[in-house]
Amino acid sequence: MIDKKNVLNGVRTVVLDVDGTLYDKSGLAHRMVRRLWWCLPLLAAERLARRTMHEVQYSSGEEFYAIFFRRMARGHWWGPGVAEKWYHHIYLPTMIRLIAKHHAPNPHVLGLIDECKRRKIPMAIYSDYGGVLDKLAALGINPKDFDLIVDAPELGALKPSAESARKVLELLHADPQTTLFVGDRVDKDGESAKALGAKFYLIP
Ligand SMILES: [Mg+2]
Repeated sequence: MIDKKNVLNGVRTVVLDVDGTLYDKSGLAHRMVRRLWWCLPLLAAERLARRTMHEVQYSSGEEFYAIFFRRMARGHWWGPGVAEKWYHHIYLPTMIRLIAKHHAPNPHVLGLIDECKRRKIPMAIYSDYGGVLDKLAALGINPKDFDLIVDAPELGALKPSAESARKVLELLHADPQTTLFVGDRVDKDGESAKALGAKFYLIP
């Protein structure tokens, strides 16, 4: 249960993570492996490539994804074009279908969202993955509740990039000192908040 009163004390903007925050993602990775057994090498390549993308700031989302798909293809029979098609047409849609079927929104976070709406506190969705709108739809969460929906790759760098987090706050015209980041990862969401001097609430 989130102590909404204390958590939102002095807060003027809330930045919410998606995976593991808006819903409990336990079992999702395992389900992805079971569903995508026929393309496990691509799944493994996605994980590995993503790991190499950390802590580097690219000039744009286009540059980020161009390098990401190139790294996914490195040392494999498939090229970056195949990796890109697989990612957009198989990987993300599978993840979204599994979320819709097996994962419910976190009721405590829904309560926090409702409290923000009641207090007219602007909210942003800030994810480390694409497909955010589809994930919100899969969870039955209204995208119109948020003032900004953005993912880290389209800002040029994954969490906990200070530069990407700063861009989120700029887009919201928010002051870091009165901004609360809400997420399930201290090393991603917590560090994003820390880099700007914002507050952080960890979803257990
Ligand atoms: Mg997360």
